[in-house]
Amino acid sequence: MNNRFTSMLSGLIFASLSFNAATAHAQSDNFSTLQLAQVEQIKQQALQSDLAWNLVESLTTEVGPRMPGTPGDKAAVAWAVAKFKTMGFDKVWTEPATFPKWIRYSESAAIVSPAPQRLHITALGNSISTPKDGIQAQVIEFQTLAELENAPDNAAKGKIVFINYRMNRDRDGNGYGPAVQARSRGAVVAAQKGAVGYVMRSVSTAYHRFAHTGGSHYKDGVTKIVASAISNADADQLHRLVALGKPVTININVQAKSMGEGTSYNVIAEFTGKEFPEQHVLIGGHLDSWDLGTGALDDGAGVALTMAAAKLAVSKGQPKRSIRVVLFAAEEFGLWGAKAYVKANEQSLSNIVAAAESDFGADKIWAFDSNVHASSLPLVSDIAVMMKSLGVEFLAKNSARSGPDLIPFRKFNIPAFALSQDGSDYFDYHHTADDTLDKVDPKKLRQNVATYAVFAFMAANAKTRIMGK
Ligand SMILES: [Zn+2]
Repeated sequence: MNNRFTSMLSGLIFASLSFNAATAHAQSDNFSTLQLAQVEQIKQQALQSDLAWNLVESLTTEVGPRMPGTPGDKAAVAWAVAKFKTMGFDKVWTEPATFPKWIRYSESAAIVSPAPQRLHITALGNSISTPKDGIQAQVIEFQTLAELENAPDNAAKGKIVFINYRMNRDRDGNGYGPAVQARSRGAVVAAQKGAVGYVMRSVSTAYHRFAHTGGSHYKDGVTKIVASAISNADADQLHRLVALGKPVTININVQAKSMGEGTSYNVIAEFTGKEFPEQHVLIGGHLDSWDLGTGALDDGAGVALTMAAAKLAVSKGQPKRSIRVVLFAAEEFGLWGAKAYVKANEQSLSNIVAAAESDFGADKIWAFDSNVHASSLPLVSDIAVMMKSLGVEFLAKNSARSGPDLIPFRKFNIPAFALSQDGSDYFDYHHTADDTLDKVDPKKLRQNVATYAVFAFMAANAKTRIMGK
């Protein structure tokens, strides 16, 4: 053998050794070698599939905005039922969910003095209307909700409270929770301090001039005042004017209406399992959206990518356990679809072997984690191994919190998972008119589908079922 051949041969032996090492690493008590090969094939198929893109394009174009109780919401339910059927799901059904219905007619705002100019504003969900000509008053600024809470009673008497808290940008979206307090109950606290109106800096990381809407609440016994948010650029402007020390007067005009109880539907579809049909993997997103944009990131992408992942996960044949996709209703108004689902399905929640909701945009999934019984951790780590080539890190903390619609499931200790998307840019677009299809990257969407398909296939076909804590 010449030297060149020897080195080629040792190269081959080395390659074969490392191949064996890789295979050995991927071998598991929970999956056959054939199944692990199928996972690889599904992954590759998903990375080349435009199924999810076609779905989110169709939903955001042919249906558009889907605020609970609106004609768009109704059209979305019909859209989802039809798509599931076309895609070949074995069972497709709907379950009703009720919620307090609210609609927006119009909104505008302006600085009246000392430097008249328009403000880009949106009403927060559930806000009351102002009088026809709006409400006009002097602005009093606070930096945080806590600062407002600590202010003396009547500190804001006759004024419009402005909270100027800016949320921080982070991959895991940790700035949202603290910022959303001012959206959820800022108008209540402002009214308790004597305010006649409430406006906040948007819950947003953006530098554009869109205002971000979102849910807000009133409290029994506290006067209802208008609840609104202005864009970050306008919040900066208002802050600069207030800082000059002269009284700043603004006018807010919101026309909206609470319409009593509305009804929508969770849309549910399933690929039935062969051996344990009652056991099921549950994935999904929420079908409703706010009315300002077309809900591409929130949550058209989550809807589309979980539908597509379920389809790809059964491309190797009927799964051992069922794979169920749930498209929750009326999430934006307060998880009403999820609450109705838990109530209607309480007896069968113990049949969930793995649950994950996608509701954080359409950027790449960067992390995977579980919230399961310790005995299922080896299986979870097998799944994590197969996600690694997709750039998904295994956090292995076993304390995952999944999407918002799975919050009502928590007390039932179902095996929950987080397939965490990179949310660095999510709050630039979230709940704005700018949440449109062009913000979805088809390539990143495919990576999401591949990750969910790996997850659904493996949880549905494992030798033993995953158990909750
Ligand atoms: Zn959402």
